[in-house]
Amino acid sequence: MGPADAGATHAAVAQGLARVRARMRDAERRFGREPGSVALLAVSKVQAPAKIAAAFDAGQTAFGESYIQEAVEKMDALAGLPLEWHFIGRIQANKTRLISERFDWVHSLGDLQHARRLGAQRPPGHPPLKVCIQVNLSGEPTKGGLAPDALAGFIAAASEIEGIHIEGLMTLPAPTDDFDAQRGAFAHLRTLRDQVAQTGLPLATLSMGMSDDLEAAIAEGASIVRVGTALFGPRQPREPRSGADPSNSQR
Ligand SMILES: *Cc1c(COP(=O)(O)O)cnc(C)c1O
Repeated sequence: MGPADAGATHAAVAQGLARVRARMRDAERRFGREPGSVALLAVSKVQAPAKIAAAFDAGQTAFGESYIQEAVEKMDALAGLPLEWHFIGRIQANKTRLISERFDWVHSLGDLQHARRLGAQRPPGHPPLKVCIQVNLSGEPTKGGLAPDALAGFIAAASEIEGIHIEGLMTLPAPTDDFDAQRGAFAHLRTLRDQVAQTGLPLATLSMGMSDDLEAAIAEGASIVRVGTALFGPRQPREPRSGADPSNSQR
C-alpha cells in the first residue's frame, strides 16, 4: 500500500468512526442514556491491520474479531499498539487456549466446557478473562448461545470458575428492519440481566447492537455496541486459508 492509499484509509476510517460515534451519542441523548455511557467495540474481522491502526490513531482501542487465526496474525502485526481484543466468534474447544492466552474479552460464551477450558488456560499473571454469556433469544439453531431458560444454571456453575469473570450478557438477534421488534429483542436481554441481578449477581455489561440496530440497543440499555460495517465499510469475502473453518462465523 502506497502513502496515498494509506492516507485514504486513514481518512475513511476516521470518518466512519466519527459517524458511528455521532449515532451513538445521538441515541444516548434521545433515549435518556448518560452521555458517553455506551462503549464502542470496533468489529475488525476480515479488515486489514492498516484499518485497525487507523482506527487506533482516531482514538479507538477495543477491537472485535471472530476468526482466531486471522486475529492472532493481526495482533502480532499490531503488537506495538496498546489494543484491547474481544473474541466475538463461535468458540471451538480446540481454540480455547489461543483465545484465553491472546484475548481480553470473550462475548460468545455459551458452553460450560468451554468456560472451564478458558479459565484453566488463562495464563498465570493475567487478570481473569472477561466473558459475556451469549443468549440465543430467537432459537435459531445456526446461532450460538444459551436458551434463556438455561441461563441461571449456567451462571451458577460458570461463576465458580477461576480464570474467567462473568461481565454480562450478549445477544445477536434475528435481523429485522422494524425498530420496535429490534427493541423487543434487546429489552428481553435486559430483562434477563435484571433477573440475574436479583439472584445476587449484578452484571454490568449488555453487549448488544450492531451496524443496523445500535440505536434500538442503546434505547434498551446496551453498554457495548459491536459495530463493523458502519465503521469500516463492507467486508470482503474471506480468503480461503488452510485450516480455516467458516462455521465459526455467526452471521
Ligand atoms: C460481525 C459481527 C458484528 C458486527 O456486525 P456489523 O453488522 O458489521 O456491524 C457484531 N457482532 C458479532 C457477533 C459479529 O459476528
